[in-house]
Amino acid sequence: MKLIFFGTTGAVQTTDNTNISFCVIEAPAAILIDASGSPCQYLLRIGVAASDFDALILTHAHPDHMHALPVLIQNLLLIKRKKPLRIFCNRATEKKAKQLLELFSLLPGSGTYPIEWVCGGNITFDRIPGMRVDLFPVNHSIQTSGIKISTARASLIFSSDTAPSDRVITEASGATALIHEATGSDRNRRILNEEGHSTALQAGETADKAGVDTLFLCHFDVRQELRPEELQREAQMRFKGKVIIPELYRVYEI
Ligand SMILES: [Zn+2]
Repeated sequence: MKLIFFGTTGAVQTTDNTNISFCVIEAPAAILIDASGSPCQYLLRIGVAASDFDALILTHAHPDHMHALPVLIQNLLLIKRKKPLRIFCNRATEKKAKQLLELFSLLPGSGTYPIEWVCGGNITFDRIPGMRVDLFPVNHSIQTSGIKISTARASLIFSSDTAPSDRVITEASGATALIHEATGSDRNRRILNEEGHSTALQAGETADKAGVDTLFLCHFDVRQELRPEELQREAQMRFKGKVIIPELYRVYEI
């Protein structure tokens, strides 16, 4: 399974980084997770045709995770994509996503590619060759889904935005890799947890309890003026496995 990050910040963008989104590839299947920035450009830069990726997963309806949905769908219409696009999300996110597309008259009609919405509470989907996708609820300020993507060889969990979550620990138990949000330092634990976010130390604790091989940190809040390397050290105080600050566009094999 290949993992490629396009952005790893929280809601505030910087000169050289942008809102969290990434791609998971298990050839021939490719899944885009969250729609921020310039999704088609990101896919093209890693050699995935926008006409050919299989699915989009939207974790929740906060703007930094979903604002680029209209321009993604518009691109696919303009390049005359034929392949159906599956969109996995929870019900609240589905409702907001459809409102957003309706606003721009972008809900595809006849003669264009079909969108297959795969929505609900606990979603399990295994019709992408070589992959199984599960969505599960986490602890954020709005209805938000964590993601588990499994193949015969590896399993990957994404916490999305969440305060520390027992469900993430359960889903990530024995997984190959956990991508966990680390919005800030444990010095700001109370306020971050109240806002439905985790500290880097708590991301490390979750990785340790789950017994994963590798922890990727993301969703950094630059307003806290902490370098990701400091958050990495904080997570390493609780987790003795590999802790990675993702480099954008680097291909991670898990
Ligand atoms: Zn959020």
